[in-house]
Formats: sequence, structure tokens, C-alpha cells
Amino acid sequence: MAHIAELIAVGTELLLGSIANTDAQILSRELSALGITVYYHTVVGDNPERLRRAVEVAKERADIIITTGGLGPTCDDLTKSVLAQCFGKELVFNQEAAKRMAAYFWRLHPDTGEMPENNYQQAWLPEGCVPFQNDWGTAPGCGFEAGGVRVIMLPGPPSECAPMFRHRAVPYLQDLTDGVIVSRSVRIFGLGESEVESLLREQMNAMENPTLAPYAKEGEVELRITAKAGDEDSARALIAPVEQQLLERFGELVYGVDEPSLEAVCLRLLREKGVTLSAAESCTGGLIAKRITDLPGASAVFKGGVVSYWSEVKHNVLNVPQPLLDRCGAVSQPVAGAMAQGVRTLTGSDLAVAVTGVAGPEPDDRDNPVGLVFAALSTPEGTYVREIYGAGSRERIRQVAANHALDLVRRYLTGLPF
Ligand code: ATP
Ligand code: MG
Repeated sequence: MAHIAELIAVGTELLLGSIANTDAQILSRELSALGITVYYHTVVGDNPERLRRAVEVAKERADIIITTGGLGPTCDDLTKSVLAQCFGKELVFNQEAAKRMAAYFWRLHPDTGEMPENNYQQAWLPEGCVPFQNDWGTAPGCGFEAGGVRVIMLPGPPSECAPMFRHRAVPYLQDLTDGVIVSRSVRIFGLGESEVESLLREQMNAMENPTLAPYAKEGEVELRITAKAGDEDSARALIAPVEQQLLERFGELVYGVDEPSLEAVCLRLLREKGVTLSAAESCTGGLIAKRITDLPGASAVFKGGVVSYWSEVKHNVLNVPQPLLDRCGAVSQPVAGAMAQGVRTLTGSDLAVAVTGVAGPEPDDRDNPVGLVFAALSTPEGTYVREIYGAGSRERIRQVAANHALDLVRRYLTGLPF
């Protein structure tokens, strides 16, 4: 049976335009990958009467209602009480949820002691529901069934909403899909979302089980293959040929399957091979170092980095020759290479990356265009520099630049051409 879901986002800040309804975007993508249709997104403020009316309408046209937001401890967090009321349910205090919340609070605030009393409000859940433990924040979510409708409540912050959906709501919906749902992510770097999509559009449209859905991130594309089957092995068997096809089609552009990020792949490879890395960063301002050191275990292989924003620092700290800076400018192929060599010598690391470029919004003093970036990799065998034209916001250009530097590391360590 085909299922229809409706998303109701609760939050006045969404209506005021203070934030965008990105939860709806995330959930819609996830639902479509599961083969669940979404016809309506509703946004409603923190107002019990209007939320009630939105739920009454949704009940008529969907058999899965998913709310986001309004689960927290403050008085405008009214989602649970309104939804419970709409479906004729009482709220009951869930001891287990309260204990978990208190423990989570303790871990975050070891010096504060007791959790504030109003936080316990979050432990009141609709009677008979399946509580969704929140390992990514405090407010628990939940799911319940009433009158042929599945109701799911998820917390608002996207960093909680997305994992709560994948790890709590999907298993809760599993029985609706008659079997198990398994997905695998093929991650691609070096081809834009639109290129990947146009290459695969026909195939994607024709596929029903498994489904194939692209998700784009700065210069990266994740292709999620999702299969439904009676058991996990059969689902994996449906996925395998599609995965194989994608690996053949995109070849060395695939940096991993079910890998969380480029930096995670680099870290794994560096550790496996016992190779050390350092970074010299201009326009990325430490982003590469941050992304690597965000990962546990980075200290085994990442020696350190230099944020060499000014030319003086490129020269004085990294030993980039002054005539090179004068002749070519800071944003240039030779300077990128010299920065990578400089930081490699300075730290004594096996490999070093460097990035110099124009993140914008204004061109640099040599009229280099916004988005022009050079990413370099220095190795014992020599130095390689890649020229990149990034587009978009300052933040995006910086992320893309960092991705390219990491991609050079990945390619070197897996013996691929640059
Ligand atoms: P909390 O425990 O953090 O209060 P909550 O479930 O009560 O969680 P809200 O108070 O409604 O959620 O929203 C908390 C924050 O989550 C908002 O300030 C906003 O940053 C983010 N958020 C809420 N709803 C959405 C949404 N639909 N899309 C994107 N972000 C959202
Ligand atoms: Mg809240």
C-alpha cells in the first residue's frame, strides 16, 4: 500500500523568516528515498489552535504525520500536548525518558548539577507511544498510532531532527513497508549535482526498488541507494548491482561507500599507511585543520597547520620566497606549491596540503576572480597544484577549496592520478 506523509513544522521563527524550514527538506528527501509520498508541507507558528487545525487537515489527507519542533522545555513548546489532544490521548510521565534526559544534561553540564525542573516537561509523552530516545540532544521524540494515522514527533534542530528520523522514525515505520529498509551511500567528489543528476536521471526515474536519490553538499554528491525487502540480505542483494554500476560509472570520483566525509577517508588512509600530514591555509583560514581535527584519532597523523593569511606570514613562517610572492601574487600556482613545501619542511610531516585563493565577495588586489583557488599537495616525490574555480558564497568556496585539498590527499594515498 502506498503511504502518504505530511510534514508539519512548528515554530513562529519559521513564519517570521528567521530560519528556513530545512527540516522539511531533509525529511522529504528521506521519505522519498523510502518510497513514501509527500504531498504537503505545512508550517505553523507556536499557537495551539492553529496547530490543531493544521493537524485536523493533515489527518484527512495523509496516513503519516510528522511534526518537527516544539518539543523542548519552554512554554511555547506545545507540539506534544496539541497532538495528543488531537488524537484523544493523555500525556503520561515517562520515567525512562526523564532519567535519560537528566543523564544527558549531566554530561553537558557536569558543574551545574541538577537539571532545571522545566526540562522534565519533555518527559511527558502521549500514552501508548513509542518514545524516541534522543542521543543528539535532550528533547525525546515519539511515535504513536491512532485512527489509522501514524504520528511522529521530532525535535526542531536539524542536527537532532535528521538523525532522529534515520535512527528512530525509520525503524518505527519499518512495519509499514513490509520488510526491512537498507540504504548505502556512494559518495562522489569532483562532479556537480546537476551533472550527476543528468547522467542518472532516466535510471533514477525508472527505479522503484531500490531507489536512487542524490544529495548535494559543497562540491560533493551523495548517491543514496535504498532497498526494501523481506530481510536484510535480500535488501543488500538488491543494492549490490546498483552500487557496482555506480562504482564503474563514476570510477575514481567515488571517494567512498558509506563513508561520512572526505576528511574521514583521508584520516583512515593516513592511519592505515602511517603517513603524517600538515596544512598551510590562506583562504580556508584553518578549515582543513578543523575538519581533520574534528575527528577522533586525528592526533596520530595530523601534525599541525599554519594559517598564513598575510604574505608576510607566507614568507616569514612558510619560507615562500619573496620574489615569488612579488612576481606571481599570493593567489598563484607557484605560491600554493611553495606554501605546501614550506609547511611540510616546518613540521617535518610526510605530506602537506596548502590552499590559497579568493573566497570573495570581492576580487583580490590583483583582480583575481572570486572563486579562484589553488590547492597544493607536497609529497616526498614532488609537489602538485590543482587550479579550481569555485562558485557561490564565501563559505561555500572555502569548503570546496578544503575538499579539493583533501581530495589530493586521498588520491595520493590510493595511488590515483591527481
Ligand atoms: P529544543 O529542545 O531545542 O527547544 P524543539 O523541538 O523545541 O527543540 P524548537 O524550539 O521548535 O524545537 O526549535 C529549536 C531550533 O531548531 C530553532 O531555533 C531552529 O534553529 C531549529 N528549527 C526548528 N524547526 C526547524 C525547521 N523546521 N527547520 C530548520 N530548523 C528548525
Ligand atoms: Mg524549543
